[in-house]
Amino acid sequence: MPHRVLAASIKHETHAFNRLKTTLAHFKAQQFALGDEIPQKYAGVRLEMGGFLDAAKRYGWELHHPVCTFATPGGAVADEAFEFFCGHLVEGLKRAGKLDGVALALHGSMVTESHDDAEGEILRRTRAVVGPDIPVAVTLDPHCNVTREMARLSSIITAFRTSPHVDQYETALRAAAILDRAMRGEVKPRVYLARRAALNAFDSARTYTGKGPMIEALKRAAEIEREQGILCVSIHSGFSRSDFAEVGPSVAVTSDGKARRAREFAEQLMEFGWQNRRIQSEQVASIEEAVAAAKAVRPGDKPLILGDYGDAPGGGAYGDSTSILKALLDAGIKNAALAAIYDPDSAHKARAAGVGATVNLTLGGKHDPAFGGGPLEAEARVIALSDGAFVYKGPYGTGTRGSFGESAAVEVDGIAIILSTLNKGIYDLEQFRIYGIEPTEKSVLVVKCMQGHHAAFDPIGSRSIDVDSGGLTTIDIKRFPYRKVPRPVWPLDEI
Ligand SMILES: [Zn+2]
Repeated sequence: MPHRVLAASIKHETHAFNRLKTTLAHFKAQQFALGDEIPQKYAGVRLEMGGFLDAAKRYGWELHHPVCTFATPGGAVADEAFEFFCGHLVEGLKRAGKLDGVALALHGSMVTESHDDAEGEILRRTRAVVGPDIPVAVTLDPHCNVTREMARLSSIITAFRTSPHVDQYETALRAAAILDRAMRGEVKPRVYLARRAALNAFDSARTYTGKGPMIEALKRAAEIEREQGILCVSIHSGFSRSDFAEVGPSVAVTSDGKARRAREFAEQLMEFGWQNRRIQSEQVASIEEAVAAAKAVRPGDKPLILGDYGDAPGGGAYGDSTSILKALLDAGIKNAALAAIYDPDSAHKARAAGVGATVNLTLGGKHDPAFGGGPLEAEARVIALSDGAFVYKGPYGTGTRGSFGESAAVEVDGIAIILSTLNKGIYDLEQFRIYGIEPTEKSVLVVKCMQGHHAAFDPIGSRSIDVDSGGLTTIDIKRFPYRKVPRPVWPLDEI
């Protein structure tokens, strides 16, 4: 008899200080598939669901897959959306009959209107159907908060080990391998969690720099995994833009049964993260430093990559900050391109005017000018229109489909700007190319992203700088009005 496994993915990274609710429409606009659509959409895609589908073939599982979804990070998830997805999950669990295992791809920082610990709630509802005994494997994004409830209700926890997250597929395979052993009765996995009173640690999970606390912690984790009875070590930097009781970095050790030293290993590694919490392997530059670097670009140089760290939709920001754009325009920088300003109003105006037309736009800065600058008045020439659909060519999330929505590219004083109607982080060169903008031919590229862009953009750039535009993903987290985080907590308080 093949093992019967249910795999599902319900993911969101919720920014506590983003005013816009994340609704069902946001999930539908990003990644959304139910039941039989899932293999059609995710077979061969380098995301967790692609990994679960391949694992099912490898291990001969009978796989049930009721739901696979995630939305661009944003404000609290609407109850309606959460109940919709959990409803499909619970229905799927019931309909599948007697299951041998469950694999859930979660993010680990979802907050809904009603649940601060939404992943804990997903696991509670899962356990309510399948009971306490069958193994439940959970994959996470390392930029996550892991609650005690999540650790208690999961059998296996494993997060991505790269940032940018180019190992989402591999992470699912790793979870699946342990899950399969558990279903065969070879191991009895359980999770030990260690946490600290900090908002973040482990160098914000950076690995692309090739150095720093996350790289060192991963090496140590690999050593621990060679110890008797240890199945997996998972390191989480914390998601500091959450505001609830269990925000912060953690280490989860999955052991076989009550491995005596599992808790000790989790504490040791967490202590390493705590001791090194101040170390950042990448410095985030100011806008002035970014402009100076842009001025230094010479004709024929490969592009300078400016990552808009402070206004990253992938971290829950509005994606409409104008402060870097304004500084580049003021400095007279030419042959630049920016992806993307989320500004439906301007996008629609440009689309109505048509390619070649000149329009007066009030660009961006509309959601909260206090974070990243207010709107810019600009005379813009429309250079391209698109339905906004793209497919990532890699190396990040290769095969992933996404869309900017009905959108336009305009040019203002030598700077090409993509105007979207769906808020999107920038991870792939295709996100420029669908507008006929060839990123390799630009002198300066501005991409709204914190880390994910480094995988695709650094190889085509002369230099890559992360810049704090002061948006909702600013490095200056002391600007956020935390209310629920227990104090004292580092770095809000000196500990
Ligand atoms: Zn992440």
